[in-house]
Amino acid sequence: MIYKTDYHMHSIYSDGRSVPEDYITAAIAASINEIGFSEHLTLFRDLEDWNMKPVNISPYINHLQSLQNITDSIKIKIGLEVDFYDGREKEISEYLKPLPLDYIIGSVHYLGEKTVDVGPEFYEGKSIDRLFESYFESVITAVSSGIFDIIGHCDLIRIYGYKPAMNMEPLYRKLAKAMKANNVAFEVNTNGRNRPLADFYPDRRFLHVFREENVPVCVNSDAHMPSRVGQYFDEAYELLRYIGFTEMAVFDKRVRTMVPF
Ligand SMILES: [Zn+2]
Ligand SMILES: [Zn+2]
Repeated sequence: MIYKTDYHMHSIYSDGRSVPEDYITAAIAASINEIGFSEHLTLFRDLEDWNMKPVNISPYINHLQSLQNITDSIKIKIGLEVDFYDGREKEISEYLKPLPLDYIIGSVHYLGEKTVDVGPEFYEGKSIDRLFESYFESVITAVSSGIFDIIGHCDLIRIYGYKPAMNMEPLYRKLAKAMKANNVAFEVNTNGRNRPLADFYPDRRFLHVFREENVPVCVNSDAHMPSRVGQYFDEAYELLRYIGFTEMAVFDKRVRTMVPF
C-alpha cells in the first residue's frame, strides 16, 4: 500500500470552493493518509481575490487544529502556499517563522506585476525563451531563500502550452541541484492536467533530472474543490516509479522524513 499524502489544497480560506471538512471527507474516501491545506498567502504586496487575508491566518490555523482533535481517520497537516518574489525574502521569512505550520510551499506566480497564470495574453509578443529563463531564475532564488520546504508547480510557466525553442534541460538541472543543496522538495502537481497545458508539473521529460539529483518528491493535487483531492495520483505514482523514485517526502512541523512507496 502506498502511503498517500496530498499537501496542496485550497479551501474557502483562499480561492477554493468548500470548507476544509469537505476536502477531508473526500480525502478519506480516496484512501489518502495525510491531507494538508495550503491557502494562498501573498505578503507585503496588494492582495488579489485569490489570497487569504493575513488577518485570517489565525482562524485558519485554529480551525484546522480543531479538526485535528476530532478526526482520527486521517492526518491533517497545516501549511501555506506563499508567493515568492524578489526583494522581501527577509521580511517574508520573519513573518512565517513563528507560525505553527507543518510545511510551507513556495510558489512563483508573479513575474513582475502580473501572474503567469492570469491568461495567455501575458505571453503574447514576448520571448518565450526569456520568460522561461526568468521564471526558472525566480524559482531558483525562491529555493535558495531558505524560506520553503516544497516548491509548488516549479514550471507553472508551461500553463498555456507555450514551448521554448531552447534546450531546457540545463535549467531543470540547475533547479534540481539548487533544491537538493537547500533541502527543498518538489511536487508533482497533478492539477496541470485540468489547465490548458493538460499535463502535470513539472514536465515529465525532465523528471529524470530530479531523480538523478536526488531531490525529494511529493505528489499534490492543488485541489480547489473536494472532487479533485488525490486526482490522477495513480498515474503520478506510476510515472514516478517508472522514473526510479522509491520514496516520498512527508512533513510534520517543518521536518521532512522519507517514506518508501
Ligand atoms: Zn499555485
Ligand atoms: Zn495552489
